[in-house]
Amino acid sequence: MVMSEKIPRKWITIKIICNKAQAVYCSICLAFAVCENTFTTGSTNFRHMHSVIKIHENSKVHISAVEAYLRASKNQSFNNSISVKILNEKHNNIHIIKQIFEIIKFLGKQNLPYRGSNATETLSLFDNENLNHGNFLEMIRIISKNDQILRDHLEKAILKSKRSKDTLKCLTNQNRREEVLS
Ligand SMILES: [Zn+2]
Repeated sequence: MVMSEKIPRKWITIKIICNKAQAVYCSICLAFAVCENTFTTGSTNFRHMHSVIKIHENSKVHISAVEAYLRASKNQSFNNSISVKILNEKHNNIHIIKQIFEIIKFLGKQNLPYRGSNATETLSLFDNENLNHGNFLEMIRIISKNDQILRDHLEKAILKSKRSKDTLKCLTNQNRREEVLS
């Protein structure tokens, strides 16, 4: 006796009325096939359904439809991951703005100045905890110690500030060299 092999075919959709199968459709071809075929109009060849399904599965039109479906699924998951990233960034930015407002409210209530000395206020020196960076930035530092989102934002801002300072230094040196040479 030959054991029958079970092949799961998720693309098959069966139209049933009053517990009786009426026609068999291919969901992928219905959505992605470029032309009509037996499985988009509904195959009713129940007597030879097994072989009809096999023929359809290997047909050019079905294979092209599967490829189109896979491409669309890939794009969908790519788009979804972008949406999740944008939502996370949005959520983080709102959180950072809220924290900044809390600090501004506190400094205003206590009638404290925001700024310190100009020389130490730059973010490029902010990782030096021995310097006084002014009330606003020092409050940011305190809160960021227990706030991962703010800490990440601060680290990025410090790095950006350091890079800008290096670029500026580089341009200034280049200008000086050009002035000396001219
Ligand atoms: Zn198909």
